[in-house]
Amino acid sequence: MNLNELTITQAHEGLKRKDFSSEELTWACMERVKEFDGKVKAFLTVLEKESLEAAREIDKKIKAGVIPGALEGIPVALKDNILVQGVKCTASSRILENYIAPYDATVVVKLKNAGAIILGKTNMDEFAFGSSGESSAFKITRNPHDLERVPGGSSAGSAAAVAAHECIYALGSDTGGSIRQPAALCGIVGLKPTYGTVSRYGLMAMASGLDIIGPLAKNVEDARIVFEAIRGRDPKDATTVDYNAPQPPLNLRGGEGGVTGLRGTRIGIPKEYFIDGMDLETEKAVRLAIKKLEELGARIVEISLPHASYALAVYYILMPAEVSANLARFDGMRYGYSVLRGSNPSQPPLNLRGEVGGLYDVYAKSRAQGFGDEVKRRIMIGTYVLSAGYADAFYKKAQAVRTLVKRDFDEAFLNVDCIVAPTSPNPAWLIGERMNDPLSMYLADIFTISANIAGIPGISIPCGKAHNLPVGLQFLAPQLREDVLFNVAGAYENARKAVDV
Ligand code: GLN
Repeated sequence: MNLNELTITQAHEGLKRKDFSSEELTWACMERVKEFDGKVKAFLTVLEKESLEAAREIDKKIKAGVIPGALEGIPVALKDNILVQGVKCTASSRILENYIAPYDATVVVKLKNAGAIILGKTNMDEFAFGSSGESSAFKITRNPHDLERVPGGSSAGSAAAVAAHECIYALGSDTGGSIRQPAALCGIVGLKPTYGTVSRYGLMAMASGLDIIGPLAKNVEDARIVFEAIRGRDPKDATTVDYNAPQPPLNLRGGEGGVTGLRGTRIGIPKEYFIDGMDLETEKAVRLAIKKLEELGARIVEISLPHASYALAVYYILMPAEVSANLARFDGMRYGYSVLRGSNPSQPPLNLRGEVGGLYDVYAKSRAQGFGDEVKRRIMIGTYVLSAGYADAFYKKAQAVRTLVKRDFDEAFLNVDCIVAPTSPNPAWLIGERMNDPLSMYLADIFTISANIAGIPGISIPCGKAHNLPVGLQFLAPQLREDVLFNVAGAYENARKAVDV
């Protein structure tokens, strides 16, 4: 096995035993990037020199007898909406084409303190608006399982980089499914933590009331290790909470595999999540996985989330409303692309007398030229639902329905420990297939969005294939109960591994 194919746990063990160095591990990932990224196009920025230097520093410490920490010396890729001081951060938008991050995001501070090796920044849908990776202003990321197909989005590059073994793990962001859905389409594990458990400081805001950073990894245990490293209250993000995860109830003994691994665990299957129009092979894979959970001892209970069908509509009101406010800062004056300077911040303003009418015109033209179509579409929807006379009818109504969606989950969790559902209604589609049909693109998130609306954690893990492409199985748990996800998803993963070999 090549070093770049290792999991975090395996890489950590190898570094500890001095089987290989962090430099060798980093170089293995770098070589894979050089060999394969021309095809997959997962990375926007590769920090070759910086990451090898950082790895050599870690190697010196290990050589001197320091036992490395869980993430120490291990290469990670970061979605390009997470700030790393001194490194370009574009959110895959032309408006930020040459923007250099002035500070580290809190998650980056935490990773650096843990000795992680930051390999580079990954491609994404522009400002994280999309489900396919195709709306990047710079390149289209491809699915490593089939290069003609999309990797999912918006954390497209992060998912593809992990699946292609170009890094050991990655971080993405999830506002409506952008970690779980690409993880599902690329056949890896993606965790969307409880809202407020991971700091958003230094994450470019999409919809601040829904955004969260989380890991994309090769297995459940790796996702757990990364989550442990990045979570926690942060004075720089007032919405973060102290995270003291309660101990798992005694009946949860997941992770052991075997026939009694989940004895006593109650798993809810929401009937609203098996919809007409869902791909039949995907449904078959998910139903087989549910059967497997039952064989492991879990009690499968059919449940109902009566307001689930409103979640997508609620999302496409609340999210654009927040987007329109958050993206108002890109005005062609303070930073980013400007009609006056192009995208070179150090260029003196051009003399555009006659072409640009005044301050308002600078705003309008800079935004018109700097933003892509999907971004403009969402800003228009957002300003519409917030405008005088409509705010009550749309925005406030959607907030009220958000509460109903959340209450459905609260009630369901009185009777079940976790909920299992498909992550995506179908496997990866062909590049270009949905680009001219925004509605079909939005429907890709039908199963992931309600977790963001309710603020609960969700994890997607592989559960077989449909049409020879990966299928994702989604587990949802009550707020702050990531431990339940790790236990139950971990038990399923172990059992599946036992069958595979
Ligand atoms: N695909 C969804 C959207 O387009 C989710 C995006 C996200 O989670 N960042 O809005």
